[in-house]
Amino acid sequence: MDLAAAPQPAADQADDLAPRVLAAVREVLGPATGTIGLHEPEFAGNEWAYVKDCLDTGWVSSVGAYVDRFERDLQAVTGVSHAVATANGTAALHICLLLAGVQPGDEVLLPALTFVATANAVSYTGATPHFVDSETVSLGVDAVALEAYLARIADRVGGHCVNRATGRVIRALVVMHVFGHPADLEALDALAERWGLVLVEDAAESLGSFYQGRHTGNVGRVSALSFNGNKVVTTGGGGAVLTHDPVLGRRAKHLTTTARVAHRWNFLHDEVGYNYRLPNLNAALGCAQLEQLPGLLERKRALAARYAQAFAGVAGVSMLSEPPQTRGNFWLNALMLATPDEGRRDAVLAALNEAGYMSRPVWTLMHKLPMYSACPRMDLPVAESLEARVINLPSSARLGA
Ligand SMILES: *Cc1c(COP(=O)(O)O)cnc(C)c1O
Repeated sequence: MDLAAAPQPAADQADDLAPRVLAAVREVLGPATGTIGLHEPEFAGNEWAYVKDCLDTGWVSSVGAYVDRFERDLQAVTGVSHAVATANGTAALHICLLLAGVQPGDEVLLPALTFVATANAVSYTGATPHFVDSETVSLGVDAVALEAYLARIADRVGGHCVNRATGRVIRALVVMHVFGHPADLEALDALAERWGLVLVEDAAESLGSFYQGRHTGNVGRVSALSFNGNKVVTTGGGGAVLTHDPVLGRRAKHLTTTARVAHRWNFLHDEVGYNYRLPNLNAALGCAQLEQLPGLLERKRALAARYAQAFAGVAGVSMLSEPPQTRGNFWLNALMLATPDEGRRDAVLAALNEAGYMSRPVWTLMHKLPMYSACPRMDLPVAESLEARVINLPSSARLGA
């Protein structure tokens, strides 16, 4: 048999996947001098001027004009009528869950495929995380699988969803927009409605992402944003609670500002509150960053298109593309192995990182972390497979210029 002319067996393809991926990444990004980060912030606008203004005027802490302006700007960008700026995205999620009425002893549904903050925020309320599976189009919560699961394990009792096995109320469903791609909000909202679950959006990764023309964070009763240093827009550290409900909006402000009752001089607090307010210094940075959001999104979209083109001809992998009816922010570009294979995934990760292109796998699934291993969960075949398929590629906006 003429071996040279024989078609390539699958095993050989596996062996040369890493160099083929590296070549495609190099084609998009050019040679790496030093390390090209996964997602680097960029301060090309009024950041220096606004931060200097805080220092010059002394307004650096939890009260100041930039905090108010940042909240107004967020309302304009997202179309949500109330935005309350917080110290970070995790704090925003914690407040969202409290506003959703989550109590100690409750359960809260959330994807196993998420950043740990989503599960931690549930724990802070004294509730138990209950992990659900994801789908392969958006990587968000799978509404169809969740519906079938709830039909098996839960009852609707007096308007609430009750876990038949534990007897606990399943109070809320937290959905997360993975890498900035909106989850299937229409189906998830309908499911939450049918089961008496409060819908909460963890929109930490999806500033600038739209589902059926509406910005993420508009569908949940409450939603959380993050402005951590690796997000599309950063305040250094920061977050925000979004809601259309004016009562919840006022309550978010109250809870994040130590539940202080307004008075000319007295320190009156009417419940256990939190010191979760975003400092003015950070909000100043955020105001300057939001001014540049359209340009950042444009360049991130251009970068995603270049990756898609470069990988179109690479067998065994594909770029995660925009789910139908969405316009994503392409926060992190995700290369997907055609089949789950941690060995192949790690070979690709090693080749990219060694060559200076910082690349990462997706988060370890929540139920595999020691503190969450005993939590209730449905079967998680898709999340397990995605964990062995996803590779995030360098995604900074400057790379799309
Ligand atoms: C970034 C992020 C958060 C919030 O993180 P902070 O660092 O606290 O701002 C929450 N959930 C997800 C999915 C995230 O990616």
